[in-house]
Amino acid sequence: MTRHVPALVIGGGISGLVCAYALQKAGVEVLLVEASARPGGVINSISRDGYLLELGPQSFSGTAQLRGLCSELGIAEQLLEAPPRAPRYVLINGRLRAVPMSAPAFFLSPLIDGVAKWGLVRDIFGKSVPPDGDESVASFIRRKFSDQLLDRLVGPFVSGVYAGDPETLSMRSAFPMVHEAEKAGGSIVRGMMRLAKKKTGPRERPTLNTFREGNETLVRALANRLGRAVLTRTSAATIYKQNDGSFHVSLEGGGNESVSAKRVICATPTDVTGRLLARLDPTCESLLASVEYAAVAVVSLGYSKKDVGHSLDGFGFLVPRSAGLRILGTVWNSSLFPCRAPDGYALLTAFVGGATDAAAAKLSSEELSNLVHREIAPLLSIKNVPTFCNVTVWPRALPQYNLGHGERLSAIAQKLERFPSLFLAGNYLRGPAIGSCVEQALAVAEEVKAKAG
Ligand SMILES: Cc1cc2nc3c(=O)[nH]c(=O)nc-3n(C[C@H](O)[C@H](O)[C@H](O)COP(=O)(O)OP(=O)(O)OC[C@H]3O[C@@H](n4cnc5c(N)ncnc54)[C@H](O)[C@@H]3O)c2cc1C
Repeated sequence: MTRHVPALVIGGGISGLVCAYALQKAGVEVLLVEASARPGGVINSISRDGYLLELGPQSFSGTAQLRGLCSELGIAEQLLEAPPRAPRYVLINGRLRAVPMSAPAFFLSPLIDGVAKWGLVRDIFGKSVPPDGDESVASFIRRKFSDQLLDRLVGPFVSGVYAGDPETLSMRSAFPMVHEAEKAGGSIVRGMMRLAKKKTGPRERPTLNTFREGNETLVRALANRLGRAVLTRTSAATIYKQNDGSFHVSLEGGGNESVSAKRVICATPTDVTGRLLARLDPTCESLLASVEYAAVAVVSLGYSKKDVGHSLDGFGFLVPRSAGLRILGTVWNSSLFPCRAPDGYALLTAFVGGATDAAAAKLSSEELSNLVHREIAPLLSIKNVPTFCNVTVWPRALPQYNLGHGERLSAIAQKLERFPSLFLAGNYLRGPAIGSCVEQALAVAEEVKAKAG
């Protein structure tokens, strides 16, 4: 049976859900097919033994768009905000040290060497020009600041956002605003100030959010609004172009065998998107397949608070690769948000793997939980084994915006010019953060509407 729809969204992660919701809100009849049993993709919150666990993202930065979306969906009052001054720590010489969060704190911090501080002075008062070609994050930091800053702060930060390797991540793709600031103003600080001045509307205070019942609230609310427009357990298999310019999409699972759609939005990871587009343009498949992903294991451990010597007063900590540990960092969930752990217990979530340690995510759940406990126990003065544990391994957790990423995306966009009714959405396009996915998905919905208009 072939169902005819004006717009088909393939993939029900946050990108696909937001795009479908925006289209439906604009009066475009839309169908969303999702391969798994539940919409939400990597955003997945579960309750177990009195703990509220996030299997993927632990929280998200509250952008104006996200807040607006939450208000529209009637879930704004369920938003929780982490204490804004919660310190973030980094492991230096075996001790957790607070990360400097402002320019004065940066200058006063004993964690940062004179070369990096002088680099900041040179940036503020001098002029630098980024190289013409793509530059890695590591090369950028070495050129502007110091090796030590790269190891102690930038590398761990890059692990926290991309689970990435600064030696291979592209500065202009992974941190486009910083790249643009230097390119336009000859200085990151002056350029960023200029960009901030150009922004219209009230100045936004950066916040770190989740919902009372976890990040799942957002994807559940979107799916509820979409209602019968969401078909779960239904995979798109192939896309063909039909003579009338519309697309025939064959499906596996679910009730419909195929869909004929005037517009198709692929909101799937790059490997799937590549396979879907293979019949339309085989080069797109290889271009998309060349986007690398990092595997990440998310290990949540629950401890009796009386067994934890550290006050856990903060966001958590990140680990420089030079520290020789396998954990990338740990979030102190129960310090940031209420009701994450039963009374008297603490919930900590560690990340293992990433682009610099692909083998870690191949360990068994038991090996991973033992490894995390072994590595965090001495740092947080933990005297006893965890009383609770949950391990989730994401073999393709996060796309890597590696050197050449921008050129790859441009080449894909060029190939797809022949198919103006085909659109891409997802976390490999404009940033992996939930806020960036929402922004990109809303922009795609606008494009779809404009072309439908
Ligand atoms: C471990 C981890 C921690 C993270 N931490 C944070 C964080 O703290 N803050 C933050 O902002 N972001 C974080 N992120 C990033 C953010 O969560 C993701 O980038 C974002 O949720 C991705 O959404 P998406 O819709 O683009 O992709 P996905 O969530 O991957 O959704 C794609 C969907 O497509 C479906 N699909 C696949 N193939 C098919 C097919 N053939 N047919 C139909 N459907 C198909 C999949 O089942 C999936 O539901 C984290 C991600 C991970 C994995």
